[in-house]
Amino acid sequence: MATRESVKHMLYHIVDYYAPELVTIGTVLFSKPEYGFFEFATQRYMMRFLRELGVAPTTVARTGFVADIGDKKSTSVIALVADMDAVCCPDHPRSDAQTGAAHACGHHAQLVHLLGVCWALKVSGLLESLHGRVRLIGAPAEEFIQLDERLALRESGAIHFLSGKQELIHLGIFDEVQAVLSVHVAHQSPEPQLFLSDGAAGFELLRIRFPESRDPRTPSSLYRLNLLIRMLQLADPQGQRLRWHVLDREEDDTEGVLTLDIYFVEESRQAIQASIDQIEALVAQLEGLVHYRCIVERYPGYWPLRQSKDLHYLFAHNAVPFIGKAQVQSPPLLEGSTDLGDLSQWLPVAQPFWGGVSGHAHQADFDVVDKEAVYLWPIKTLLGTIVDLLWDNAAILHQVVARFQPTITKQGYLQEMERQYEGISRRLPGESGT
Ligand SMILES: [Zn+2]
Repeated sequence: MATRESVKHMLYHIVDYYAPELVTIGTVLFSKPEYGFFEFATQRYMMRFLRELGVAPTTVARTGFVADIGDKKSTSVIALVADMDAVCCPDHPRSDAQTGAAHACGHHAQLVHLLGVCWALKVSGLLESLHGRVRLIGAPAEEFIQLDERLALRESGAIHFLSGKQELIHLGIFDEVQAVLSVHVAHQSPEPQLFLSDGAAGFELLRIRFPESRDPRTPSSLYRLNLLIRMLQLADPQGQRLRWHVLDREEDDTEGVLTLDIYFVEESRQAIQASIDQIEALVAQLEGLVHYRCIVERYPGYWPLRQSKDLHYLFAHNAVPFIGKAQVQSPPLLEGSTDLGDLSQWLPVAQPFWGGVSGHAHQADFDVVDKEAVYLWPIKTLLGTIVDLLWDNAAILHQVVARFQPTITKQGYLQEMERQYEGISRRLPGESGT
């Protein structure tokens, strides 16, 4: 009779057998960067591949895809999520010459992981005997960028929420799912280290517009903007909680209004709210000083990420044979935010970060230096983790679910998001300062 370890080794052998193809797919996808909700070529590429493996994917969330493999009747469902989108980095050697998009966050590697896991499970035929289901999800638009384009998509009805996983939650794609797995590359880590962090901060965005006044007594919009920036510097002297930038509208003539984006990055929703209250008070103070109003728009960003320690434990257990114990690290918080944070409020989620990459996140020096660490070991580790979770009628998966403590129900989450998004709709262009 097959043992759990013999099943894992059978799967690892299949990954080894197809390793050259998987690395080639990684290299191809690295050179196919597309922006969030515009990953049409990536979607086609992935769906064609899945069909060749005998899987029937469907398109979802405009440019995403979803496919279930395994026992269709099983209620033991693990989601394997791959982000699909690139970032704006025209200087990157593999950037798209037309759009400036580049896979300088390494999301292309996640797509290889998804294909590799699917490939091994399909070829082995083992998933059927594991009595479980793996939901393969291609998630568009993880990066919170191109806000104007996304708002236009939302206005046209093409999307409902502004990020891929928020949209997938809204569409019910995670409804039957019991645990979520995904692997991200670790930037500036050429060694194949594994980082299992407790979580990541969340964020929200305030967009503040400074319309020009016809009244000559009103200070110019540039003066008012600089005054507010000075106030922000005083409020956050270390520059730790707030990140802001002035939107350069010179190239597109559509706005003609100076705009300041302020990102509130905090470890809890309460802390985000407190910071927003503080800055809204500063804006009111500014308005009182100059007797002229700004237009303030608030956009829901991402909820803080809470990683499942149980899933991390399983993942580390399965990674150690490849990288050794010394390479596993547990930093408290990840840099940046992710929309997996939204999911992690009501589902057990794990996104380990795996090295093998040199250079900085979202920058031109980002490169894959250890292809085995970036593309192949995560596939094997994901397979080992999936086998552990589903073994013995998914005994461990049920334990993970039983021990998980949600902060909110999915329904509660959606209600909260609708409430915040209603706020955006009311403040869409057309409104002006008084
Ligand atoms: Zn990323």
